[in-house]
Amino acid sequence: ANSVFSGLGTTIFTVMSALATEHGAINLGQGFPDDEGPDDVRAAAAKAIMEGPNQYPPMMGVPALRQAVAAANKRFYGLEVDWQTEVMVTSGATEALTDCLMALLNPSDEAILIEPAYDSYKPIIEAAGAKVVTVALQPPHWSLPLEELAAAFSDKTKLIVLNTPMNPIGKVFTRAELEAVAALLIRHDSYALCDEVYEHLVFSGHEHIPLMTLPGMRERALRVGSAGKTFSLTGWKIGYVTAPAHLMSTVAKTHQFVTFTTPPALQSAVAFGLGKDDAYFAGLASSLEAKRDLLAKGLKDAGFDVLPADGTYFISADFRPLGFNGTDEEFCREITVKAKVAAIPLSSFYTPNASHAPRHLARFCFCKQDAILTEASARLLSYA
Ligand code: PMP
Ligand code: GLN
Repeated sequence: ANSVFSGLGTTIFTVMSALATEHGAINLGQGFPDDEGPDDVRAAAAKAIMEGPNQYPPMMGVPALRQAVAAANKRFYGLEVDWQTEVMVTSGATEALTDCLMALLNPSDEAILIEPAYDSYKPIIEAAGAKVVTVALQPPHWSLPLEELAAAFSDKTKLIVLNTPMNPIGKVFTRAELEAVAALLIRHDSYALCDEVYEHLVFSGHEHIPLMTLPGMRERALRVGSAGKTFSLTGWKIGYVTAPAHLMSTVAKTHQFVTFTTPPALQSAVAFGLGKDDAYFAGLASSLEAKRDLLAKGLKDAGFDVLPADGTYFISADFRPLGFNGTDEEFCREITVKAKVAAIPLSSFYTPNASHAPRHLARFCFCKQDAILTEASARLLSYA
């Protein structure tokens, strides 16, 4: 078959997970926790499966979850959202992102991506016939180059994809950066697709600010969340979009022909989860922050230069101090096979073969049990 998709390789996450399994390596590549998620949320799902209903739920999502997403928008960010016309449930954030991109983009439109960028955006933008325009962040500070960003906008810019907290580098966008983005969106009459799946995984001294909360952005931003990250249940694939009604009506048309609905019992359980007390959300962030600190220290002790990570599941590290002179892809293969610890090469989040892509950084995932992080650190220390 010949399409945008036929030329694509297998995602780096699948490739590195397979290599990790083949070599019995600790998998700090693909981002997923190694525990089972909160007992009470899983119990709510089990109960909902037994009690039903288990037939097709409403296309927009079960009311309890749409109401819970609207309530969470208010509770965490002060956003007033109409649960009936402005919230939709999807099968993972991946579907939400696809629905939004397919709904908004037309051939000849341009969509701006900030690199390093999560891998699912570009193929869908191109499948919609639109053109990707990239703006690259550079290590070690990863600050947003405002002049380049301004130059990336044109009269064809339909949207920007803004991922904060940002996979793979753990960057949390500042209010000043968001204000700069907002000003450009207003000037060019464009939208923002805000991938905020890591909204609750933000560490001390940093704050997650949805672009949607800035002046003028309520009508231009589409905000995507994921129960996978918020409840450490990545296999559940429950996502949700909050968007102004005039955009949501078209996004819902895409959803109805992509998946139509999402398992109702899991939706009910996530509705329960979003109502958990503040201690749950604070505990999630502080437990991950402690894991970040543990792995950061292990990587430092093994000789890496470790970059800051202010949120997400991920930390990146410069391996050149270890004396390794090859590329990041070679390094990640080498440590998977020899040290038996798998990681993801950072250049895989940039346009293929881009000269501006860093080739000296590996992304490590720290949402793992402490003993696993300690063992991985010990293996890297004896490898180095
Ligand atoms: N966006 C980003 C930045 C992610 O890291 C992920 C995690 N896989 C997703 C979207 C997809 O989330 P989901 O598993 O809910 O589809
Ligand atoms: N978001 C996860 C990561 O960045 C991977 C999800 C996937 O495998 N597609 O590791």
